[in-house]
Amino acid sequence: AAPIPFDPDQLDWNKGDGLLPAIVQHWRDGRVLMLGYMNREALEATLKTGRVTFYSRSKQRLWTKGESSGNVLELKAVDADCDHDTLLVRATPHGPTCHQGTESCFGDASDPELAFLGRLDNLVRRRHAELPADSYTTRLFDAGTRRIAQKVGEEGVETALAAVAEDDDALVGEAADLVYHLLVLLRARNLGLADVIDRLRERHAD
Ligand code: AMP
Ligand code: ZN
Ligand code: ZN
Ligand code: ZN
Repeated sequence: AAPIPFDPDQLDWNKGDGLLPAIVQHWRDGRVLMLGYMNREALEATLKTGRVTFYSRSKQRLWTKGESSGNVLELKAVDADCDHDTLLVRATPHGPTCHQGTESCFGDASDPELAFLGRLDNLVRRRHAELPADSYTTRLFDAGTRRIAQKVGEEGVETALAAVAEDDDALVGEAADLVYHLLVLLRARNLGLADVIDRLRERHAD
């Protein structure tokens, strides 16, 4: 993995007796996953290995998250706050981050509203992989790409008609149908929301 550029010398290590709080945020959807503490050694290990490593105050040693569970945090970016005494670590989690089995140590409380779209995309991906019985999504995948594409066309037209009719309740409902069927269509082609976001980012000026 390519090294993440970050200079530990820019941090105010004296402030926290050599230990700075590190907020870990989900790289893709922005959820807060956990809070840990890093000394300089832990930060350097994190940057070098690409696996988020803390200084454990209870174990009193370097602790690479996932060292026994395998649920590692793959480093994506490190940033300091305004006065250089707190770290923001963005990472891709492999497995649940909390040792109690949830994805975030803060439960669902830290879910940003928009993260729901990512969770829905993940659900559609799972349905596509597992094709469980008694699932509308499975029936769509079974019907094939052409049928799903037709649904997207219909929902697109219904969305447009609701907007023209100035029926906001219908507009929200049809837009929800459209977004869901669009996720299913993308997945039928082995694509997802991340691919669309990448393209939108490329087009974005700043
Ligand atoms: P792990 O680093 O996932 O292999 O877990 C090793 C041990 O670290 C666990 O048994 C817990 O005691 C502790 N631990 C793991 N994850 C967390 C977490 N998110 N917050 C606090 N302690 C943790
Ligand atoms: Zn600060
Ligand atoms: Zn936890
Ligand atoms: Zn509809």
